[in-house]
Amino acid sequence: MEPIICAGQLLIVDRMPETTDKDIVIARIGNDLCVKRLRVLDDGAVCLHSENPNYKPIPICIEDNFEIWGKVLHSIQLFSKLKMIALVDCNNFYVSCERVFDPTLRRRPVVVLSNNDGCVIARSEEAKELGIKMGTPYFQIEHLIESKEVAVFSSNYTLYGDMSARVMESLHRFSPEVEHYSIDEAFLNLETRNRNLVVKGESIREKIYRWTGLSVSVGIAPTKTLAKIANRVAKKERKGVVELTSDNLCDEVLTDCVTKF
Ligand SMILES: [Mg+2]
Repeated sequence: MEPIICAGQLLIVDRMPETTDKDIVIARIGNDLCVKRLRVLDDGAVCLHSENPNYKPIPICIEDNFEIWGKVLHSIQLFSKLKMIALVDCNNFYVSCERVFDPTLRRRPVVVLSNNDGCVIARSEEAKELGIKMGTPYFQIEHLIESKEVAVFSSNYTLYGDMSARVMESLHRFSPEVEHYSIDEAFLNLETRNRNLVVKGESIREKIYRWTGLSVSVGIAPTKTLAKIANRVAKKERKGVVELTSDNLCDEVLTDCVTKF
């Protein structure tokens, strides 16, 4: 199969080649090396063609200081291109920690308050649906507590720290490179040899839930910033895992971010 050559790739080159028309070659013209397609015309004349149609073919004259340096057999993606980054982020972390130890809280609106019970710092989906916003002072939602049976918790950082450690320890089973980014999120370097990273993300979600009782969202992309955005999309659209692969998809999501925020 003919190699597809893109920027940032390694080329496997045969230095003792038998070249024929249309081979991709590394040619030396004078002191310069270039990668071109070899064309041998009917009259025996030799030309070097670029894949980019904007570049004119280079005719080779007998007097040119020219040689076929090698024939390109394969192309390989560089190691740095073989990595993708996953941002694993716990959903409604403080609330989810409280729910692990009290399953009766599932499907109930739950909020966690800041130190001294000042304001709301975590909400379950049900609490969000009641219109309770992050940072709302507690006294402003007191009327909902009874009427909507909202469960309210003072923050318990000993519990959250312990649950965080369980999640982080579990994440090390999926990648040798884990960066703890905050109490409830971490970046993982993922090898892309196994290209189906959405399946890998689903596996991370399923196992973290089984091992810790916490649900997470996973955003996968070539950079940390894009992985963060992918994670946001995963949460907003309740998809669980979102992978941003193509440049077009990245552009689409970034344009969406710019228009919304
Ligand atoms: Mg979170």
